[in-house]
Amino acid sequence: MIIKQRLLTPGPTQSPPGVAEALVRGCAMHHRSAEFRALFASVRERLGNFMLGEETRFDKAGASAPILLNGSGTLAMEAALVNLLNPGERGLFVVTGRFGARWAQLSDTLGFNTARLQKVWSADVSPDELRQAIHNANATGEVKAVFLPGCETSTGALLDVEALAKVVREFDDVLLCVDGITWLGAHVVHPARYGVDALTFGSQKALGVPPGLSALWLSERAWERVERVGTPRAYLDLVRERTSQAEGSMSFTAPIAQIAALDAALTWAKSLPGGYQALALNAASLSNAMRAGLAALKLEVLAERPAASLSVVMLDAFETLDAEVVRKLMLDRSGVRIAGGQEYLKGKALRFSHLGYTDQGEALLTLAAFEQALAELGAIPHDQLGASLAAFMKA
Ligand SMILES: *Cc1c(COP(=O)(O)O)cnc(C)c1O
Repeated sequence: MIIKQRLLTPGPTQSPPGVAEALVRGCAMHHRSAEFRALFASVRERLGNFMLGEETRFDKAGASAPILLNGSGTLAMEAALVNLLNPGERGLFVVTGRFGARWAQLSDTLGFNTARLQKVWSADVSPDELRQAIHNANATGEVKAVFLPGCETSTGALLDVEALAKVVREFDDVLLCVDGITWLGAHVVHPARYGVDALTFGSQKALGVPPGLSALWLSERAWERVERVGTPRAYLDLVRERTSQAEGSMSFTAPIAQIAALDAALTWAKSLPGGYQALALNAASLSNAMRAGLAALKLEVLAERPAASLSVVMLDAFETLDAEVVRKLMLDRSGVRIAGGQEYLKGKALRFSHLGYTDQGEALLTLAAFEQALAELGAIPHDQLGASLAAFMKA
């Protein structure tokens, strides 16, 4: 019998202490009250520090802080598109997995001129490849912005955003838009310093706030573009939204309770030894040890350049095994909910998250649950149980 479940997926993640109470507190607040305005301004500034690095300073009015958006991460991806590209203008999208593909698909749907740097899932992208792709795409329409995921959550692949940003900077007037949704809070990064122009955030990943809140930070160059772009946008008009948010609320009713929850999550993360970077260090050490454990089962992570956010492994070492059956057994027998593969990886891969409020104890439990499921399915002998746990502990 299972009396306790643990949510160990790469979003949503478990909420850290204080988040549930904050949601309740938010129920009694008004979005035009002085109390909320103070909370809202503080959250935007601190979220900006979480996204860009603790040392970043924003102007007093908050015009340069991230814009909060009332929707899941994909809304922030759409907001970047409709505010940074004119109708018919060309974006180049790095597609090495499902989330890169999603941004390109949104661009198609919205009628922009979409170019793709398409590689096999889980591949890395080198600076030379990106430079070549921009040149190639320019030949059939001038590229105005490059879009890429810092961490591709479908494959666990990291991109070297700093190196790729240098390439984008070689081209005049091309903006770099980064999906930071599982990149932030799992790596120590300085996106503004690298030259990133647009950066997305989603509440339900490293910070463990229930889904439905996202944010988009824009550089000064990006804001200049936003002011000139003529693509129709209503709820996602960021020029209007920037004015409203600098005045301490959203243009329309803000998700008050979620913003209170984000406040609590930021307070929690900041209180960790070393502040916000502690989350990244935690993810790095968990991912290292977890990969040592998985290697003891002859499983290797899929990504060419693995992110610390999550470990994605193919189960093809165990030929006939259905990953979804393994996942269900882990949940039913041990109460551990991990994520499976998406699209063509469904049934073939498992995704182990290291994001946010999770620790060594849960990582060990995950490996134990995984081994037990494998043993029950006859994929590993019972007398070898514990091999991955030993390797984890040694690492
Ligand atoms: C979770 C995630 C998103 C956002 O997806 P939503 O379902 O809209 O929250 C976007 N990009 C990446 C890389 C993600 O991991």
